[in-house]
Amino acid sequence: MSKATPHPVFTSQPDPDKIGPTIEVIRIAAKPKRGLIVASHDPLGCYTHWRNNRKLPCLGPDCKCHQTGEDRRWYGYVAIWQPRTHNMCILEYTRAAAVPFVEYFNKHRTMRGARLDAYRRSEKTNSRLIVHLYDGDTPDEEIPTAPNRQRVLARIWGLNFDDFDDSKNVARLQIIQDAAFLPTPNNGRGRNT
Ligand SMILES: [Zn+2]
Repeated sequence: MSKATPHPVFTSQPDPDKIGPTIEVIRIAAKPKRGLIVASHDPLGCYTHWRNNRKLPCLGPDCKCHQTGEDRRWYGYVAIWQPRTHNMCILEYTRAAAVPFVEYFNKHRTMRGARLDAYRRSEKTNSRLIVHLYDGDTPDEEIPTAPNRQRVLARIWGLNFDDFDDSKNVARLQIIQDAAFLPTPNNGRGRNT
């Protein structure tokens, strides 16, 4: 009886991921981004806290960070498609840049298909983010389906997204928040609060 020697299994691609491909969340640094295409239908964002060098979503009245008076900041998330590279990603934008998205949505009843330019007012990474949305001319059928932003964020935050009202997710998030409250050695990098 012959026994096959164990060997690596080569395949052209990995097994399908239940959650889908990893979508990158990008921020605008010093380098401007122009001519991006908005793939999301509507504006979406949430309040977040910054704990131990990581951003965590705010849970509203149940939020531990909130109860202890932590500062919270709103960030918007919009799926954008880069026609040149065919890359889909999610752009994180600041509260200061939120108005153009809402105005465009109110005027056109969708943001999908809009062209987007985003840049910083100065070369400093944390200077004010400026966003312009204007009418695009890419046919809708050429723009890929936008990823579910809440699902992508849930993955980044270590949650199982099926429903953010799911009590298990809230419990999980509270564990993550509790962990974020643990003191970490000061390694001299990042923000310490
Ligand atoms: Zn909170």
